[in-house]
Amino acid sequence: MEAKIYEDKSEETITRNWIIKTSELGGRGIFASKPIKRGSLIFSNRPLAVGPRADFAGKTFCSICYDTSYSCYPCEKCAMFVCSEDCANSQQHANECAFVVQNWKLKRNSEINTKVQAEILIYIRLLLLNEEQKQLLSLLQKSKNSFSAKNLDLLCSEYIIPEEHMKLIKIITSIMIVNSFRISWNANGKKTPLRGIYPFSSFLNHNCVPNTRNVFKTDHTMLVYASKDIEIGEEILTCYTGILWCTPARRCQLYKTKQFWCSCERCKDPTELGTRLSALNCLNRECVGVLLPITPTDPKTPWNCDNCNKIVSCQKIGAVLSVLGSLVGTLDVDNQFRLETLILERLSRLVPYSNHIFVDLRLRLSFKIGFTEGLQLTGILLKFSKLTPFQF
Ligand SMILES: [Zn+2]
Ligand SMILES: [Zn+2]
Ligand SMILES: [Zn+2]
Ligand SMILES: [Zn+2]
Repeated sequence: MEAKIYEDKSEETITRNWIIKTSELGGRGIFASKPIKRGSLIFSNRPLAVGPRADFAGKTFCSICYDTSYSCYPCEKCAMFVCSEDCANSQQHANECAFVVQNWKLKRNSEINTKVQAEILIYIRLLLLNEEQKQLLSLLQKSKNSFSAKNLDLLCSEYIIPEEHMKLIKIITSIMIVNSFRISWNANGKKTPLRGIYPFSSFLNHNCVPNTRNVFKTDHTMLVYASKDIEIGEEILTCYTGILWCTPARRCQLYKTKQFWCSCERCKDPTELGTRLSALNCLNRECVGVLLPITPTDPKTPWNCDNCNKIVSCQKIGAVLSVLGSLVGTLDVDNQFRLETLILERLSRLVPYSNHIFVDLRLRLSFKIGFTEGLQLTGILLKFSKLTPFQF
């Protein structure tokens, strides 16, 4: 395959230090063909197409710049939302609008809902690829399992889509299940979250302790950097989930979205390599120990206390996790400086500070330092001293 198709032109000077071959993890993978130093750029990859993450569609958003705003309005011709004249008159909207008008008939004369728009955009963009790009798309692995066609029903509820496009859309869905990447970008909730199809990054297999980290540029180009020294022959791996999520959350997400149960070293280790990100406080209030899963790769595993050895059934653990989930759900995590002290106190009774919930909150908090008005470095110590029950 031609590397130049995949790679960002500005990065062409980088010497290729990887090859694609069969991986023990299934399918093909990317392997180091030369030693790769920690911190170095391994490759950069432009997406074949980018679209909103359908599972996050809630607010009205612009189909072109992804701004979430109630002032977005539906295009009269294709019913997709745009935020401004600029976006409405963009070449991209012209292409997508013409495609919809020529091929798909709107069932009603009303505006489409944001859920339909979130589903539809990436399909339109993939159907609009040129022949060479379509060939690249067809090289990607497809899901072997059957998938729920709820999203296709959603599309058909608003548009009359011709049979040949429906066939292609089904193939695209099976490709997206296996290959789509969450694009992380710092949009402060003002933009809708995105996913993308990266022809080259798609060959990266998963590990819960990856040897790379991904950075996305504003044009959504994905840069893959080595997060540690990588030896010749070592597989280059990425993490398909949030890296700080606890083992049950990562494994469930991987099963739900990528249809496999991970059994990497981190998933097999009850302490998650000593981090104790999954740990819960012992249910015995007098005990200072923490509960950890006995066999983390078994979803029905009992947990036990590392101090008093008390064994707790997976049903009980499930109940604690659901209380935790609803507690975290009530926190305004993007506004950490106003976190409810009462909720934090309840959380700290249920989980130790090593738990991923606290680690995540601490990281979010530290990312904000120096960037939030009134919280520039001067005066920040004063604010910190008021924040309980964090321990820094
Ligand atoms: Zn816009
Ligand atoms: Zn339009
Ligand atoms: Zn794992
Ligand atoms: Zn105990």
